[in-house]
Amino acid sequence: MADIKRQLIVFDFDWSMADQDTDRWIFEVLAPDVRRKMKTLQLETQWTDLIAQSLREIHGRGATREQIEHTLQIMPFHPAMVRAVNKLKSGGKTTFFCLSNANSIFISTILKHKGLESLFDEIITNPAEWDPSGLLKLRRRVDPNGPQHSCTVGCSPNMCKGEELVAFLARHAPEYDRVVYVGDGSNDFCPVLRLRSQDMILCRRYRGLEKRIANEGEELGMRCQVKYWAGAWEVEELFGELAI
Ligand SMILES: [Mg+2]
Ligand SMILES: [Zn+2]
Repeated sequence: MADIKRQLIVFDFDWSMADQDTDRWIFEVLAPDVRRKMKTLQLETQWTDLIAQSLREIHGRGATREQIEHTLQIMPFHPAMVRAVNKLKSGGKTTFFCLSNANSIFISTILKHKGLESLFDEIITNPAEWDPSGLLKLRRRVDPNGPQHSCTVGCSPNMCKGEELVAFLARHAPEYDRVVYVGDGSNDFCPVLRLRSQDMILCRRYRGLEKRIANEGEELGMRCQVKYWAGAWEVEELFGELAI
């Protein structure tokens, strides 16, 4: 480990950095009937489009920007995660990159509340903005009317996390000595396949990524090292081993 001079930590956001899923939490707190409806609509509507549509629906019935921001601020987020990233960042040799299927407003609102607004060099996610009426307008990262990504691993049409990781690495040459990806979901499997043998996935247990690694990892030639965790306090421990 003595030869690691430049390290990249890639963070998924929902259930990886944060201890909940922003897209679902907002509606569970503010409009559980909309949350219930999402369960049937998600079979026919692309997920990002469904969240955009659900945000319009609660705006139409009076949910305010302040309510949404407050709901994000009270979402579970483990203090050990805040300690873990701050400690690694303070070493000065680690870059942080957020790669998430949530959206820019959900993520920035929560990071600001935790004092982590300058943690990430880049946040790649679905773009969102408040309009003056208090509606949170959300769009897919990949415009449905333009060229689509060419993922064959099963990423949602709104974004291929594998392609985004490769593009990030190209923008930030030279190569990092080590890339560590923290993820939990089935959509984190595609970027994990792009990691090298000296890289590492910190995979959250009991969720989609763990299953995909077990079922498809070997077959699809996954090369990186794998470590598992369940609570953020264990990420703090693992980051202690990665400190440079
Ligand atoms: Mg996730
Ligand atoms: Zn992909």
